[in-house]
Amino acid sequence: MEILYFLILTATVLILAYNRVSLVMSMAIMIALTIGWTELRHLFYVPSWFRFANGIVAVTLIGFAITPLRRLLISDRLYGLFRKALPTVSDTEQEALDAGTVWWDAEIFSGRPRWRNLLKTPAPALTETEQAFLDGPVEELCRMANDWEICDTHRRLPDKLWDFMREQRFFGMIIPEKYGGLQFSAQANSAVVMKLASRNLTTAITVMVPNSLGPGELLLHYGTEEQKNHYLPKLASGEEIPCFALTSPTAGSDAASMNDMGIVCMGEHQGKTVLGLKLTWNKRYITLAPVATLLGLAFKAMDPDGLLGEEPDLGITCALIPTGTPGVEIGNRHMPVGAVFMNGPTRGKDVFIPVDWVIGGQERIGQGWRMLMQSLAAGRSISLPALGTSGGKMSALMSGAYARIRKQFNIPIGQFEGIEEPLARIGGRTYRMDAARTLTLVALDQGERPGVLSAILKYQLTEENRRCVNDAMDIHGGKGIITGPGNYLAHGYQALPISITVEGANILTRSLIIFGQGAIRAHPWLLKEMDAARDPRPGARKTFDRVIFSHAGHIISNTVRAWMLGISGGFATNAPVPGPTAYYFRQLTRMSAAFSFTSDLVLLVLGGKFKFKETLSGRLADALIHLYMGSAVLKRFEDDGRPDADLPFVRWAMDDSLLTIQESLKGVLNNFPVPGMGGLVKWIIFPLGSPYSQPSDRTGKEIARILQSESESRDRLVSGVYLSDQDDASGRVHTAFHLVLTATNAENAIRNALNQSVTYENYETLVQKAVESGVITEEQATTVRLAQQAARAVIDVDEFTRAEIEGFEDPAFRPAVKNA
Ligand SMILES: Cc1cc2nc3c(=O)[nH]c(=O)nc-3n(C[C@H](O)[C@H](O)[C@H](O)COP(=O)(O)OP(=O)(O)OC[C@H]3O[C@@H](n4cnc5c(N)ncnc54)[C@H](O)[C@@H]3O)c2cc1C
Repeated sequence: MEILYFLILTATVLILAYNRVSLVMSMAIMIALTIGWTELRHLFYVPSWFRFANGIVAVTLIGFAITPLRRLLISDRLYGLFRKALPTVSDTEQEALDAGTVWWDAEIFSGRPRWRNLLKTPAPALTETEQAFLDGPVEELCRMANDWEICDTHRRLPDKLWDFMREQRFFGMIIPEKYGGLQFSAQANSAVVMKLASRNLTTAITVMVPNSLGPGELLLHYGTEEQKNHYLPKLASGEEIPCFALTSPTAGSDAASMNDMGIVCMGEHQGKTVLGLKLTWNKRYITLAPVATLLGLAFKAMDPDGLLGEEPDLGITCALIPTGTPGVEIGNRHMPVGAVFMNGPTRGKDVFIPVDWVIGGQERIGQGWRMLMQSLAAGRSISLPALGTSGGKMSALMSGAYARIRKQFNIPIGQFEGIEEPLARIGGRTYRMDAARTLTLVALDQGERPGVLSAILKYQLTEENRRCVNDAMDIHGGKGIITGPGNYLAHGYQALPISITVEGANILTRSLIIFGQGAIRAHPWLLKEMDAARDPRPGARKTFDRVIFSHAGHIISNTVRAWMLGISGGFATNAPVPGPTAYYFRQLTRMSAAFSFTSDLVLLVLGGKFKFKETLSGRLADALIHLYMGSAVLKRFEDDGRPDADLPFVRWAMDDSLLTIQESLKGVLNNFPVPGMGGLVKWIIFPLGSPYSQPSDRTGKEIARILQSESESRDRLVSGVYLSDQDDASGRVHTAFHLVLTATNAENAIRNALNQSVTYENYETLVQKAVESGVITEEQATTVRLAQQAARAVIDVDEFTRAEIEGFEDPAFRPAVKNA
């Protein structure tokens, strides 16, 4: 009996905490319960200790609910400690932290994501005009772009492609129609880049850069009317080719530490003496720089003579400089690995520009960093994630087909479990990448500028692409390695490090930015606490008291939620939908509480020192990333109308994400800075041990089968890439794949009747015999012949004369062979 009452009291407290009942309401409930139990003792046995304990809880809550009392005892004391522990944040760091908005990341940090809100967001869609552009000019550009010719013959985009891109306004996707641009949604912008990237990376990057962070985007948001009217129509038509130069030799990831200077001074411009800046810069790695006509330049503005006011150090500033301006050094090329898009350095010494060339004019001097950080979220959510997803889709499409076409030991290699494994990884990852890509684009098109999610997308989708392409290379064996016009993988493989490095290198993005920015921006209370603690006004202590107690309630609730969801295997919460994904919704809710609780403890223990604990931050970033990726997978499945056929992708992606979240949190707790505490927290969030494991072999097998068949599920997975119908590298694979599948029944019939497998070497003889003996029809015979020939065309690799490769004329030349 006593145990029952103990359980009732524990359950009451847990239910209040689990449901985040407010302090005042909890206090009222506990007072009511104390009175109620006291009265009920007349009807049945209610132990006195139990009534007393209820009272104690009620009184404790009263203590916490009375603001002056709790301020005196707790929050005013914490205020001082908190102020001291606040991390030092530079202005540039603060601007980076403040940039953009928060969206689903805030729900993840809450520990209690409101799934119905996510499911209510619209499904990704394109307008008719956007779809027509993809089916028309984009398809045509893909047809024109021959990967081998671009990368190895010309080592640049041929003029006819540049002309076509200009004519069709590919460079004006983000520019409003009133300036002559296409005014596309983020969804369409991404779809264009993704399709182009599936054909040729150089073309995709050339289109992507003017439509991403750079002069166009900055002018749209910050340009003066005069600047917009002058430049935007020219950028949209491709008359002006822009580039944006931020990176210097000494300032890469730490771009704000640049030494490029602009000294405010008077100077000569078009025969007049005007206010302006004398610029000296040295920038490198700048995409499109060698062909740019308009250089966007970031530099530090200084005003030593006080021409603009008393402050000599004005801060980072962005200006637009026509590359024909005397003194601008530009035109040399770097050679990025795997692609031949224009990229190179630019330098200038004491180049005078009028102040009107500063983006936004004189009043925007010093605001460059803020402008860049604010604009980064949009481009970073679009371009590189589109490139990454394209790589995943092409890996799935080509590896599935190749695994079916290529036979070893007399069977398609895709039937070996060893090949099924990487095929499954490619399929599951690609589904997840595409889900996250489109979900984030929906947010962008709704006006969000999700800073943390854009970093997640950039990092995760480029990393997943790297894994997909690596798996694709392994599946292809020598076919992937031997380069030539028939190779459709090698350039993408070689170019992988580019997307990993640009727009925030991945190691930095994972270990410093994703969780670091997420914890401050997307956490429900941390930023409010920091703001209150920094606020010198007398009223700030009151605000601090309110937020610190809300934060404490948040931690208590997440502790209880993490444990209750853990002990119930996630069943303490409801899923927003029934069916096969309900389990995953519950598990993500559970992991969201566990993540939120663990994050709070780490932040509490480390305070400002957290910034330097990159291994912990990186692991927490992994958990946050997969909470987002998992949410996107579940949303996509709903958006697609819950097709059963796609469940293997969903299961693979979700099992992998849950396992990653689990292992990341365990990694944090195994290395928790306070000895012993990690073990305790691990017990709270995983009370019954580790619940998640790798995707099953069965799921992997199902995915491998989908990728090796012509099915709607496969079509949905790879939708949006270019499917070549030409006699070229990828076109040959599509043709062979279709023919090989069509010929399967006939080949099986031949093997069964003649007791011999059909191969390229024997197919003529076997087909003839099979037709003569009535095993197959003449029509089937033709299919088998065509399939064998098409498969051989795929399996063959390119070869060159030595002179072609070595670039000299004497074919008899042999290098000296040294004996060992
Ligand atoms: C092909 C290409 C195109 C580019 N296009 C442009 C362009 O158009 N305009 C432009 O301005 N720039 C451009 N860049 C520059 C690009 O943005 C930088 O390369 C990038 O910012 C990284 O700088 P870095 O290469 O100097 O590497 P570094 O900053 O030297 O970094 C080296 C390594 O250290 C890691 N690292 C650095 N700091 C930390 C930290 N605090 N914690 C953990 N790890 C850290 C990085 O993640 C990276 O792995 C381009 C670069 C390339 C390669």
